[in-house]
Amino acid sequence: MIDLENISFDHCIKCTVCTIYCPVARVTHHFPGPKQSGPDTERLRIKNPELLDDSLRYCTNCKRCEIACPSNVKIADIIQSSKWKYFKKKFRIRDYFLSHTDLMGSVAVNYATLVNFFTGLPPVKFLLDAVFLIPSKRTFPKYARGTFRKWFRKYAQKKQAAFGTRVTYFHGCFVNYNDHSLGKDLVTVLNAMNIGVDITRERCCGVPLIANGYIGKARKNARYNIASLQKAVVDPGSRIVTTSSSCAFALKYEYANLLEMDNSSIFNQLNYITRFIYDQFQAGNAPPMKPVTIRAAYHSPCHLERMGGVIHTIDVLRRVPGLELQILHSECCGIAGTYGFKKEYYDVSQKVGGALFKRIERVRPDFVITDCETCKWQIEMSTPYKVLHPVNILARAFER
Ligand code: SF4
Ligand code: SF4
Repeated sequence: MIDLENISFDHCIKCTVCTIYCPVARVTHHFPGPKQSGPDTERLRIKNPELLDDSLRYCTNCKRCEIACPSNVKIADIIQSSKWKYFKKKFRIRDYFLSHTDLMGSVAVNYATLVNFFTGLPPVKFLLDAVFLIPSKRTFPKYARGTFRKWFRKYAQKKQAAFGTRVTYFHGCFVNYNDHSLGKDLVTVLNAMNIGVDITRERCCGVPLIANGYIGKARKNARYNIASLQKAVVDPGSRIVTTSSSCAFALKYEYANLLEMDNSSIFNQLNYITRFIYDQFQAGNAPPMKPVTIRAAYHSPCHLERMGGVIHTIDVLRRVPGLELQILHSECCGIAGTYGFKKEYYDVSQKVGGALFKRIERVRPDFVITDCETCKWQIEMSTPYKVLHPVNILARAFER
């Protein structure tokens, strides 16, 4: 039976704009593009699931087709949900480990030095490639020692009580297991703006679970996060912020549109961090900043573009004195979460990112700035440049 709530494919006017904007269709003939894989064939799949085309697997869920579509067809959502509905789920140990970031992270942070050392060794990489189909050319993000939550509870939590206004910080897996410095910088920035930081119980937002077809688990995490965040923001004036544009996108949009979860109780209170800071600056809460004299190239992540949030990051960064900012042409970096960690998609992933890497090379910045941790991994692996988060820049500007 056709789900009448989900017939946005019927609004397609066959203009093919989405296919022009699809970064995957541009680099491989294996993927016919969003129009054909989305609205054109969805009606066939509904009639007969056997008409499923294996090429759907190439879609990265970057959402660039949805940004381009003049008819508001939920193209990427159609493709993603078709993957879960119609492909038979095969258990793959690689996909399990790539998608269960809380499990991997909570174990790895206890042996971070060893894990980081061994995952960088050529024989280990060779083995991962041969046995688990994780390309040996791929570099792994480093694990931190211990979790951000532990650091926060030990060193920062008590001081936060002194602030009259506080926000709830959804730190996400990257800050908790890989890069505490981003979370610490967030505390520095918000405290400099006279705002305290709270954390609450949270699980992985679900982005890697969604990408690897663990929908039951993604819904479970979504339910957990909505309930936990809801308790933290009972007062309608309370706010939740994230420093990951992908976590923000999942919590606000993937939960409702893809996982069909009711997140209305937190939707209006949850913002990606630069939107929150932008609003504060507009309201006059803009403490003086020190010059940060660097030349930086800014890369806008696909999911932040889909949320319409790039303008806030750029506005906030442009206020930093001394920062010479070059806005890069909008391009997908190609990693798409776990996609670039899979041997079968690695070459496509690198080809997708190729145009962005060339643009960065042309600018020759001191640093690249971006809002998404996986874009950071991809750019740092594929260019000689270190990648910072907008909050890292603001922390330098606000440091006493
Ligand atoms: S989500 Fe991205 S990869 Fe998938 S069809 Fe749309 S533009 Fe192409
Ligand atoms: S951009 Fe939208 S309306 Fe145009 S072909 Fe793609 S899905 Fe259809």
